[in-house]
Amino acid sequence: MQITRSSLQTGKGPADWFTGDVFIDPVAAPSAPARAAAALVHFVPGARTAWHTHPLGQTIYVTEGVGRCQREGGAIEEIRPGDRVFFAPGENHWHGAAADRFMVHLAIHEADDAGSTVNWGRHVTEEEYQGHFG
Ligand code: MN
Repeated sequence: MQITRSSLQTGKGPADWFTGDVFIDPVAAPSAPARAAAALVHFVPGARTAWHTHPLGQTIYVTEGVGRCQREGGAIEEIRPGDRVFFAPGENHWHGAAADRFMVHLAIHEADDAGSTVNWGRHVTEEEYQGHFG
């Protein structure tokens, strides 16, 4: 057993990868050969990721608030605490808070052979964010 006491500061989601204020707490940061990584992510109302993919996919598990997610070509889906979303490897998508609610999710994903867990694309526009709901 290994306990790691909380010593890392909460990170601010970089503006290149997020719209609005997003705060990231590392939960699991693997050392090789382990690959599983996890982060607890807080989104303020209206905040969201940019479009992105995960080489080995990703699960998000909503713990607080109300959120939104969308895969490329699909409708926007509302997500709430207890909802779990799996994004398939290479599936282009975004996730974030509802316009008027905070959202917190645990994100779980694996690193590929190069150590990469995510490939970032362009920002989600306001029009896309307010777009078609499922
Ligand atoms: Mn993702």
